[in-house]
Amino acid sequence: MSITENYLKIRNQVPEHVTIVLACKKRTPKEVAEVIDAGASDIGENYVQEGGKMFDALGDKAYKARWHMIGPLQKNKINKALRIFDSIQTVHSCEQAADIDKRAQALGKKVSVFIEINIGEESAKSGIAAEYEAVKSLAEDISNLGSLNLEGIMTMGPFYEDPENIRPYFRRTKEIFDKIKSLNLPDTDMKYLSMGMSDSYKVAIEEGSNMIRLGTIIFGPRI
Ligand SMILES: *Cc1c(COP(=O)(O)O)cnc(C)c1O
Repeated sequence: MSITENYLKIRNQVPEHVTIVLACKKRTPKEVAEVIDAGASDIGENYVQEGGKMFDALGDKAYKARWHMIGPLQKNKINKALRIFDSIQTVHSCEQAADIDKRAQALGKKVSVFIEINIGEESAKSGIAAEYEAVKSLAEDISNLGSLNLEGIMTMGPFYEDPENIRPYFRRTKEIFDKIKSLNLPDTDMKYLSMGMSDSYKVAIEEGSNMIRLGTIIFGPRI
């Protein structure tokens, strides 16, 4: 099946309130242009430099989508990231949030940010520890930063062959999400719970995700 057919099939399968972010690492501008033409509204990139190249290669088409940073963001890449990304889903520390805020303020921009939780507490994955108090403290810090709007929580979760095994991690992330949302912090609008990928999006949606990040299932295997 073509990228267009894959996208439309999944778009029709998942509930309307679920946003699909296309994870575009290693894809060509032609492939990403096709999925935007098919109606994709949200693009995810893992690397600032690749994302910038993709954004520029797409020309006017790039402006039809919202752009999400879904990989770790290094301090020296923040300015470049703010040129293309509407949303940074991988904020994991107060220091990092303050760095992004400072640069966004200098550019006169408001930036949507998500807190990334390392729900499996895996040393190879980034994100803040999966403890409510730690996430709450970071959410409070972000809510005090004038150029950042906290809009959600993102998690990767550990990889299992059987996606059923990831369910408890998604459930715990949703619990933390709900508690943070109920704090009603100023300048905070907890709209998005970003979890679920090609192999786990169905379980993630069952556990309350409303933003899934898909690559392989739309574009095919990464070469
Ligand atoms: C690559 C990637 C995805 C999508 O992975 P697939 O298994 O190809 O769907 C989602 N989120 C992040 C952060 C990624 O790096």
